[in-house]
Amino acid sequence: MPLLVMKFGGTSVADLDRIANAAGKVAREVERGYDVIVIVSAMAGKTNELVRWVESTSPFFDAREYDAVVASGENVTAGLMALRLQELGVPARSWQGWQVPILTTSAHSAARFVDIPRDNIDAKFAEGMRVAVVAGFQGLSPENRITTLGRGGSDTTAVAFAAAFGAERCDIYTDVDGIYTTDPRITSKARKLTRISFEEMLELASLGAKVLQTRSVELAMRYKVRLRVLSSFDDTDETSGTLVCDEEEIMESKVVSGVAHSRDEAKITLFTIEDRPGIAASIFGALAEAGVNVDMIVQNISEKDYDDEHPGAVTDMTFSCPVDQVPRARKALEAALERNLIKYDELIIDTEVAKVSIVGIGMRSQAGVAARMFEALAAEGINIKVIATSEIKISVMIDRKYMELAVQTLHDAFELEKAG
Ligand code: ADP
Ligand code: ASP
Ligand code: MG
Repeated sequence: MPLLVMKFGGTSVADLDRIANAAGKVAREVERGYDVIVIVSAMAGKTNELVRWVESTSPFFDAREYDAVVASGENVTAGLMALRLQELGVPARSWQGWQVPILTTSAHSAARFVDIPRDNIDAKFAEGMRVAVVAGFQGLSPENRITTLGRGGSDTTAVAFAAAFGAERCDIYTDVDGIYTTDPRITSKARKLTRISFEEMLELASLGAKVLQTRSVELAMRYKVRLRVLSSFDDTDETSGTLVCDEEEIMESKVVSGVAHSRDEAKITLFTIEDRPGIAASIFGALAEAGVNVDMIVQNISEKDYDDEHPGAVTDMTFSCPVDQVPRARKALEAALERNLIKYDELIIDTEVAKVSIVGIGMRSQAGVAARMFEALAAEGINIKVIATSEIKISVMIDRKYMELAVQTLHDAFELEKAG
């Protein structure tokens, strides 16, 4: 029988009525002849609550116990979804990650899939089960411990199952009816896209558009999964939502396809460091060891001597990281200073910044996009603190209080409300 993967996010299973609504959508696909693998998130807000419970109990928690606790939200919704489907007369059962088993690495809170053996679920389909409800976000490490895939990880579970089981499509049901030119919560001018390329979605996701977890887009691209985002609240059919697909399948040709934002960023500057080979390696080595996810990096042009004992040029180094990693970053840099691994005069930390980015494959062949972006921001008096570019994106770091304005300004400047 043809197979579909249907994933329901937190708001789509937020209470028993919504679980019933989602189950109705699954039952309709079963009626149409599909076997279905349903991936569920925890009820909206549940994972955040579990994270708070862990942090209140143990500030420097054991990552294995963190995963054991935060994975539990999905277990509840998986069981409830299976029960609701059974009430509708659909043969269904739930699976926690370890029961499948979903085998992952042991990187707790950031685990990656190693293997998803099909045997157990296939055997049940062969016996007449029509729906396997699988708890998203979780897996099992080689040490036999529960792992999680990072926040938003149920998207990745869904795509991995679609790839492993050769699903016809992977449908991600959420609280918006598709992927928009920017987060529709920030501007009502955001326009729904009918299609978006894997490359562009990958950039948007990694730059903060949380509608899909980055890793899920990577997997879909690698395994050619037909990935669709659509609303769990609307009546939907095969044409609903946004399809994430190959560039060749897209007719629209705009230079910029979308604007992404990442609110909770921090900027850290090390003033007066020596400018010689090995210094950057020492700084970022110490940060990597402490598990800090460094994003943008800028090093100033150097001019003068460090001091009498350290002749040669000095420079300043600035980088960004998620704001909740600032304590870890500070600790790592101060420890490196103490152990004489690095030298700096001052550490300046700005926790009030955000990152705004424009993304588009059209940028590959079009000049002047950066100038247009910077002019638009300047016209609103928004100062740019750090810039980073790649082939299909330009990111700027700005004061957080201007984030919404910057997104709206760029959305207007590149006329994203109009179809291309
Ligand atoms: P779920 O709980 O279903 O996984 P998420 O909250 O993780 O849902 O993702 C959906 C949210 O992503 C939307 O409510 C929207 O605010 C946000 N979002 C950010 N950027 C975009 C975008 N470009 N298009 C659509 N939604 C976006
Ligand atoms: N419940 C998890 C989270 O909130 C995973 C997910 O919903 O995708 O991050
Ligand atoms: Mg999500």
